[in-house]
Amino acid sequence: MTVLAGGVGGAKLAHGASRVTDRVTVVVNTADDARIHGLWVSPDLDTVMYTLAGIANPTTGWGIAGETYTTLEALRRLGADTWFMLGDQDLATHLARTARLADGASLSQVTAELATALGVTARLLPATDDPLATMVDTPAGRLDFQDYFVRRKHQDDVLGVHLDGVDDARPAPGVLPALTGADVVLLAPSNPIVSVGPVLAVPGVREALRTSPARRVGVSPLIGGRAVKGPAAQMLAGLGHEVSALGVARLYVDVLDVWCIDTVDAHLAPAITDLGLTVHVTDTMMRTDHDRERLATELVDVAGR
Ligand code: GDP
Repeated sequence: MTVLAGGVGGAKLAHGASRVTDRVTVVVNTADDARIHGLWVSPDLDTVMYTLAGIANPTTGWGIAGETYTTLEALRRLGADTWFMLGDQDLATHLARTARLADGASLSQVTAELATALGVTARLLPATDDPLATMVDTPAGRLDFQDYFVRRKHQDDVLGVHLDGVDDARPAPGVLPALTGADVVLLAPSNPIVSVGPVLAVPGVREALRTSPARRVGVSPLIGGRAVKGPAAQMLAGLGHEVSALGVARLYVDVLDVWCIDTVDAHLAPAITDLGLTVHVTDTMMRTDHDRERLATELVDVAGR
């Protein structure tokens, strides 16, 4: 089974999937990777990795449980900008990643090494090893993704989203086979514009999924027209998409067989069926580990039907 994932929503479903089968590949967004204090930070890969390793901070959804911030405090004392929260243990991940990349290792090699060291048995693949950067056009100008998302707390209106480097990006080794060779591909309930969007935009990925013999099942990140977390709803509105589970289905209609929506959105089922998708209606809010496993089990089940 292969899961396409961004950060928190992706990590939760990938975790559920890893409890249903021991052969899971997670293809993760890298377009919000950033250089911070000279270190290579891969927020979505790390959220998925920490979640699958069982060490994620359950309150924030990102970072490591029980973190301390001694190094960040020391950086602040030295006059560094510290708006991007990096815990001491988390910094160790970024130090290790940056050092290996400087040695000439690829991001996918380093990701595999880090995940193995943390005891993750699922295979984690960055969507691409090449530079790919989401830029957000706002009334204040074009912003780096983390500037928009973390520093400015995603409060700017989104006028456009641009992917720097996308034309030259190649899928990381293993990504295309993971899409064409899986029995089931899940599109996680992640931000469709800045999490799943960049993964599908890597040349070759969307086409591989479109023509894959796998059963392809997506979960709506919008419940009742609202995001569970983050700026997905404002982004969709700003880019002129309908802000609903139906609006998101339209973005994926060429790469899915089944679209899973929340019970509160059941009234949208006929319109989604009209797009040519099979609709599965269930409780899609993953509050507990049990919710994650139950949802993943249902998705595999509906994929097999
Ligand atoms: P980020 O990179 O950490 O912002 O994470 P993602 O892109 O993976 O997740 C953000 C999106 O996931 C938002 O659009 C949320 O609405 C959605 N999301 C998060 N948790 C859940 C959940 O439990 N169920 C559903 N259906 N969507 C979720």
